[in-house]
Amino acid sequence: MQREREFAEKLEQILPPRLVDFLKRAGEKAAERNEQAYIVGGVVRDLLLCIDNFDIDITVEGNAVALARELSRSAFDRITVHKQFNTATIKFDQWNIDFVTARSEIYEYPGALPKITPASLEEDLKRRDFTINAMAIGLSGKNYGELYDPCNGKTDLQSRNIRILHEKSFVDDSTRIWRGLRYEQRLGFQMEQRTLELLIRDIPMLDTVSGERIRYEIECILKEKYPERVFSRAFRLGVLGSLNTFIKFDTRKEEWFLRAREMNCPNVPSDLLYWLLFTYELDMENREKLIARLHLPKQIAQALRDCHAIKERLEMLAAPDITNSQIYRLLCAYSPSAIIANIIAVEEDESRKALNLYIEKLKNVKAIISGSDLLKMGFEQGPQLKELLDAVLDARLNGKALTKEDEIAIVKKMLAG
Ligand code: ATP
Repeated sequence: MQREREFAEKLEQILPPRLVDFLKRAGEKAAERNEQAYIVGGVVRDLLLCIDNFDIDITVEGNAVALARELSRSAFDRITVHKQFNTATIKFDQWNIDFVTARSEIYEYPGALPKITPASLEEDLKRRDFTINAMAIGLSGKNYGELYDPCNGKTDLQSRNIRILHEKSFVDDSTRIWRGLRYEQRLGFQMEQRTLELLIRDIPMLDTVSGERIRYEIECILKEKYPERVFSRAFRLGVLGSLNTFIKFDTRKEEWFLRAREMNCPNVPSDLLYWLLFTYELDMENREKLIARLHLPKQIAQALRDCHAIKERLEMLAAPDITNSQIYRLLCAYSPSAIIANIIAVEEDESRKALNLYIEKLKNVKAIISGSDLLKMGFEQGPQLKELLDAVLDARLNGKALTKEDEIAIVKKMLAG
């Protein structure tokens, strides 16, 4: 394997000193156990690009869980062992450091989860997704600060290429298609030519992967600084079509994403808002298909349904003589995120005005009198009570009832009527 020793300095320049101390300690402890520890993957890629990334993955030629246990014992750091995967995470200061035993992977059929066996560092690096993610830096003994780069990732970093490691890579695991687009757009790199050809050829392989795994990749994209760039590229290449043939991603949608960020709505999680804009043009049938394919969690699924229900009410919301209470009744059953998605996406000014009025004002309007006030006045529990309260709220929404006495007068008038 090709090695370079210049990275000890880089580690110390870029990572915080306490983290470097921890890594040295991990390396020394591994050496005492006659094992080798390395930092690998994204952190090495970002170290070489001088990008801050403190998400540390440590690969161990040996027993990663035993090493992590020993380390945590000596320094009282918090450790979590994931028995199912035979990995461990140490929480050290604000960092989570993952320990994994070096392994090789065999895919028995496209989309299968790989069969894992312990292996050398080199084999471990050669099972990875892209050359730029297949580098390691040694932490133990005389290997400290050495770069291990069996797939020439450093050259691809310099030429800004995203390149897979072998021709069957996307067939083995087609989630790498989404991963590749994410790195390409995040780093401003380009797909290497042959990788691009294979990516396009293997798009149908995405059908072999479970919904959860695809959803995980989409969620990772939604956490990027500019998710719209990834989706736009995925649309142009035909990758988005594998998710649902009716989803489009044009410049208009890119602008929606931008606007969603600018609005920075409190209480509306940005990834939820992105999901709604991402799928905005889908009809109900295709929304349900997508919800089922990706096993979307309840909250997202419900917001997707709400968003569609509101879309169907846009015309009514644009009626010239619509009252505030009518706007309220049309929208009060739906989540704020679904309303905001419509505010961003709707083209028609009058509907947008009504949606804005609801979100900024009507949503928070409350009657002064409550159910218990009415009970005290001698009314009985039941549907009539709700009707009376609704009537009071409607009057308040339409600007009629101002004081508690006004509201009581409305109740009395209704009863007399
Ligand atoms: P990010 O900066 O987005 O967190 P990362 O490179 O740290 O990127 P992770 O998803 O944390 O990515 O994965 C860690 C490493 O594991 C990757 O750098 C890559 O080497 C490897 N890896 C992850 N997913 C795959 C995959 N589907 N196929 C092969 N290797 C993978």
